[in-house]
Amino acid sequence: MIERPVLDALEGEGRDYYPVQLDPEDDFAYARYWRGEWGRHLDLIFEEEDVLPPLDSIAALPACKREWCALEVSLGDHLSARTLGLVKFSYSLQHRLPDLAFQALPLSRSGDRSVHWRSVDSAIIRELDFAGVTVHIHQPPALHLHRYPGSPPGGPAPATSDTPA
Ligand SMILES: [Zn+2]
Repeated sequence: MIERPVLDALEGEGRDYYPVQLDPEDDFAYARYWRGEWGRHLDLIFEEEDVLPPLDSIAALPACKREWCALEVSLGDHLSARTLGLVKFSYSLQHRLPDLAFQALPLSRSGDRSVHWRSVDSAIIRELDFAGVTVHIHQPPALHLHRYPGSPPGGPAPATSDTPA
């Protein structure tokens, strides 16, 4: 479920976005989501449901020419931009590395399993590292709202894009 302050912030940005609600009982829904989204957009701008974007921070992402942009989010005792909390993957990156999400998040032979939601961010970032892509950090950091321990992100929900699906 998208946190109310996050929805308010997205509305304030005045850009198109579409929420995605994943099945919280399905540990692999997040991986399938990323497999499905990669390569479908001009710039893929993605935000998890409990990450509060600073004012105008989302608008700055498509305006930036770098391929992988992110805002730092709090991970307890430190800030990190190596998350999928609020990121942009440019059109050029997705088309230069069209298989990245599929390599990072392979399906099981039966097709019903993939990478557990907890490891999706690290799996994608590992592939970016392998490809030599470095993150461009935008300031200020985003506020990471409360996350309930042990529960899935529940809907890596609001995404915005220049080309809504
Ligand atoms: Zn940037």
